[in-house]
Amino acid sequence: MFDDIETSLEDFLATPTTQVKREQFPCHACGGTGKYNGVRIHQEKSQCFACNGRGHFFTSYADRKAAKAKRQAKAEAKRASNREAGLAQLTEALGEQGLAWLQNASWSEFYTDLLHKAIQYGSLSEKQLACVVNGWEKQQVRDAERNAARAAREANAPVIDLTKINNLFDTAKSNGLKKPRLVCGSLRLSLAPLNGANAGCTYVKDQGEYAGKITAEGKFFAVRTARAEIAGELQEIAKDPLNAFKVHGQVTGSCSCCGRELTNKDSIALGIGPICADKWGLV
Ligand SMILES: [Zn+2]
Ligand SMILES: [Zn+2]
Repeated sequence: MFDDIETSLEDFLATPTTQVKREQFPCHACGGTGKYNGVRIHQEKSQCFACNGRGHFFTSYADRKAAKAKRQAKAEAKRASNREAGLAQLTEALGEQGLAWLQNASWSEFYTDLLHKAIQYGSLSEKQLACVVNGWEKQQVRDAERNAARAAREANAPVIDLTKINNLFDTAKSNGLKKPRLVCGSLRLSLAPLNGANAGCTYVKDQGEYAGKITAEGKFFAVRTARAEIAGELQEIAKDPLNAFKVHGQVTGSCSCCGRELTNKDSIALGIGPICADKWGLV
């Protein structure tokens, strides 16, 4: 028994007592020196930041690289899941349309910030969510008011039957006039460009200022500042354009089409010069 212990002790003492040394991998950034080799401006520390001055790592470069990729993939997955969760919370609170409103609310730093917070953190607090819901509700009220106002404007828009005027415009265009226009009194009618948002509309100017448009359906939408009498004047012109030209010619002495001064008595009586009368099919 005692012998056994003695033998064990001898064995133990015979065994080399060197510690098991962990494998070390030199740092590539500093070549294993632990010191940064380049020039640093505004930086007093001279150690290598990659290995924090140790000069080595306990894991291989490949292992460290793999671990970093794994960390990044995990972070990316977290970002994606937060984004999904944040958008899901917003969709539940606002609906698809409300979410679309929030995503297009670039006019508001406040709402844009809340959207980004929801996406970043995966959810908004109750208070924050309430703010967004409140904003969307207000927006819907504004939209409803705007639509109602538009519907009312549409319902109340005076109707101008432009059949005769349009026939004149068609003739003028078929005779090569690119931008035909008609002037009667203070009003000037021209066609909206065919490739524009108002294609098919007739523009109305009053004393040189834009006063509104007449749609293809014949509804006159005046701008706020337009004179109240314009609709009535347009109706008069549309009913009998040739008579309106006559009045214009007699009052102003200028052509209803090109605005040139009329010298000929017959032209003044017509309100249209001979060349324009030809182009507009009024001979
Ligand atoms: Zn280093
Ligand atoms: Zn003319």
